Parts: sequence; structure tokens; C-alpha cells
Amino acid sequence: MAVTDHVDLNGFMEGVKKRNPHQPEFVQAVQEVAEDIFDFMQDKEEYHSQQILRRIAEPDRVVSFRVCWEDDAGNIRVQRGWRVQNNNAIGPYKGGIRFHPSVTESVLKFLAFEQTFKNALTGLPMGGGKGGSNFNPKGKSVREIMRFCQSFMTELYRHIGADIDVPAGDIGVGGREIGFMFGQYKRITNNFTGVLTGKGLEWGGSLIRTEATGYGAVYFLANMLATKGETLEGKTAVISGSGNVATHAAEKIVQLGGKVLTLSDSGGFIHDPDGITQEKIDWVKTHKTHRRGRIEEYVAAFPRATFHAGKTPWGVPCDVALPCATQNELLGEDAKTLVANGCRAVSEGANMPTDLDGVHTFKAAKILYAPGKASNAGGVAVSGLEMSQNSERRSWKEEELQQMLKDIMSGIHNSCIRYGDQGGGYIDYVKGANIAGFKKVADAMLAFGVV
Ligand code: NDP
Repeated sequence: MAVTDHVDLNGFMEGVKKRNPHQPEFVQAVQEVAEDIFDFMQDKEEYHSQQILRRIAEPDRVVSFRVCWEDDAGNIRVQRGWRVQNNNAIGPYKGGIRFHPSVTESVLKFLAFEQTFKNALTGLPMGGGKGGSNFNPKGKSVREIMRFCQSFMTELYRHIGADIDVPAGDIGVGGREIGFMFGQYKRITNNFTGVLTGKGLEWGGSLIRTEATGYGAVYFLANMLATKGETLEGKTAVISGSGNVATHAAEKIVQLGGKVLTLSDSGGFIHDPDGITQEKIDWVKTHKTHRRGRIEEYVAAFPRATFHAGKTPWGVPCDVALPCATQNELLGEDAKTLVANGCRAVSEGANMPTDLDGVHTFKAAKILYAPGKASNAGGVAVSGLEMSQNSERRSWKEEELQQMLKDIMSGIHNSCIRYGDQGGGYIDYVKGANIAGFKKVADAMLAFGVV
């Protein structure tokens, strides 16, 4: 068989599985996209003959490296670091850095693959990448984290650059870690350049970058509800996570008149029937970010709330749900429970939080369901705006940025409708996002020939 002959979806996925053994997250992410793209490509011979999907599903490169650091007791510790540069057809590689013990090459390949389509959806010139380490920041002193970040950057610096690859934060990497990494980059290269985003405001960062992912996920949710003539006013919301994305999603829900019932972390979830108000959200932010505390301590501060150890919050009846913690945290059974309890809309703040069963359940129920690559793109969009501000050596005002974020989220919503409208009032946002993101990257790749 000539390599240009068409294979079907199953044949394609067999190849992906064979080439990526023991990488279930990556295979899952490719499958979710391929299910929609095969349909779309049916009558588009050039995408087939140029093997575009096969090429996008093969990272440009995966760099893996050793990260040695010394803990406070003087012990030498060894971790593994990676940077996955998936595709730079429409701009420099762009995507966060994750520090978490669950990080593997598979997890970072799935995230870099997803990021490629997400970045395309923002309309900004950014390719897709992702990086990280299996380093666990929990329980480490600030000095230990600093030494780890410096050692990580001592290898990473040679693979990145303002026009090459621009990392940002992700799980376990916030403003403090970006500061340690930027400091080391500058020290090694003697170059003050926009090589990382999520920087502090005093040294090249952008206003609203911290809030952008959570706020953006809620703007997207509001856009979806508007297609049904509804708003967030008076709606109950169930949110997972209690980090950057979850707390800012909660904040925007409250601002738009909704009532947030839950937050969680890897220990379990809290349910506050009175609603998690702005004052309580501020408490969570300080508790989790500055005191590095656990969410279960919320019930001591707010005794009417309950803590549910080892559980996810999807059994709490709600109008809307926002998974904002991590991948595969909302399974098929959870999706069924949400739908049975009357949940009308799901907006993903995390990346791939819903497993394939769950995705199929939401699609079959025809509820408003936004995949992370569309609904959580606000963070990388403002990172893209941070890059522009760095290149121009200026800072834009908060109102300008807030408006740009809203416009970008509406633009993504429109792209999803364009390619996902199934008629009869149902919009398949997964299909819309996959096709719109794929088409932009694919057409750029066609222009470059076989490279
Ligand atoms: P944070 O590190 O700020 O918070 C992560 C939250 O998720 C914490 O509450 C954490 O709990 C919980 N969590 C992490 N891993 C697990 C796990 N294995 N099981 C259960 N809970 C877990 O990260 P972010 O808020 O930045 O990121 C959350 C999600 O959003 C991720 O999927 C990320 O890729 C995605 N995202 C983030 C963007 C950003 O701008 N930050 C942009 C786009 C997507 P605990 O404290 O117990 O670890």
C-alpha cells in the first residue's frame, strides 16, 4: 500500500498506539481530535496526501534532560525534565511548564498536542509546546524550589527563546517559579527578553495574565449560555481544583451573579451550600498559594461547609460545572451523574479533564460542553499579548486587556459555532474547536511543503 493511500480512523489510531507505547494520555488526546478530523478531511485530498494529521501527531522534537539539585539537608536529588516542541507552523512554540510527580513524557506530549490547536484558536501567532518535570514542589522550602528552578533552566535555556519557544506556568508553576527561572535565564544569557510569560508586573509581565484562564473559561461559558438566551445570574456552579484556574473561575462566576458550591484539591472536595463568596475565595487563594495549605481546612474557617475526602465534586447537583484541576478527573460515570442531575453546561478550565467516555456522554446528551482547548485558551491568549507587549517594550492598560480577552473568547466561540453547528440548535463545541484549530495549522503546514 502506498503511504498516501487513505487509512480509516481505526487504522490511523492503531499506528499512533504502536508508535507511542505506554503513552495513554497522548493516545487519548490524539483520538479525541482524530475522531472529528477524519470526518472533516473526507473530501480534502491534500490533507491526506500530505499526511498532515500524521505529521501534527508527531512532535517536532522531545527534549529530555536530567535535573540535579541539592535539598536543604545536603542530599543530591535527581529529577527528569522535558520540553516537547510539538508544532511551530504558525508561530514560536508556546505552552506552560508543569511541576508535578505525575508528569511523564506522555502527559507532556498530550498537553503539547492540545496546545497546538488551542493556540491556533486564539488567532494569535503561537505554535504548540509544553514542558515540565516530575519534581514535586509540595513540602519543599522556597530555597529548594529556587535551586530546582535554576537547575531546570540551566538545561532548558538552550532550547527556548523569544522567537523560538516561550514557556509559561502550569500546575505547580506560578509567578514565583517563573521568577526563579527567568532570573536564571537572564543570568546565563545576559539577555532580558520575553522568553517566558506569566512574569511579574515589574519585570515584563502583563496585567490580567494571572486571572485570564479562569475568567476566560467563564466568558466562554457565558457565551454558550447566551446561545440559549440564558445568563449566569442565579445559576449554581460546581468547580474542581483550588489553584490558579479554579479560584479565578469561581471569582468570575460570583461577579456574574452565579453561586459557587464546591472547590477541591487532590485530597477531596469541599461543599459550601451557602455559596463560596469573594471573601471566601480570597481566603482560599491565600491559604492554598501563600500558606500552601489543603482545601480540607476550609471547613474549619467556614463551618457550614463539608469536606469529602478522596472524592470529586461531580455528584453535587448544579446548573453548570467547571473542571479546573487536572486531566481525566471527570469520568464517564461522573458525566452521566451531572447530566442526570440537570447540569446544562460544562466549561473545562483544565486540560482534558473529561475522559473519552465522559466526552461521548456530554455529546450524546447534547448539553453545552466546551473542551479545554477552546474554553481555557484565555491564559495562553494573554500570554500571547504579553509577548506582544514585550516586543513593543510597553504595557497595555487593564481595560484594554480585559476587552481583548473577552473579544478573543468570543472569537473562539464563533469559530466553534462555524465548524460545530449540527443544526437543530445543537453545537458540537468539541468538533468545532478541533476543526477550526486543525485547519489553521494544517493550511500553514501545506504552505511550507514537506518539512
Ligand atoms: P495550580 O497548580 O494552580 O492548581 C492545580 C489544582 O489542581 C490544585 O488544586 C491541585 O490540588 C489540583 N490537582 C492537581 N493535580 C491533581 C490530581 N492529580 N488530582 C486532583 N487534583 C489535582 O494549577 P492551574 O490552576 O494553573 O492548572 C489547573 C489546570 O488548568 C491544569 O490542567 C492546567 O494544565 C490547566 N491550565 C492552566 C492554565 C494556566 O494559565 N495556569 C492555562 C490553561 C490550562 P493539590 O493542591 O492537591 O495539588
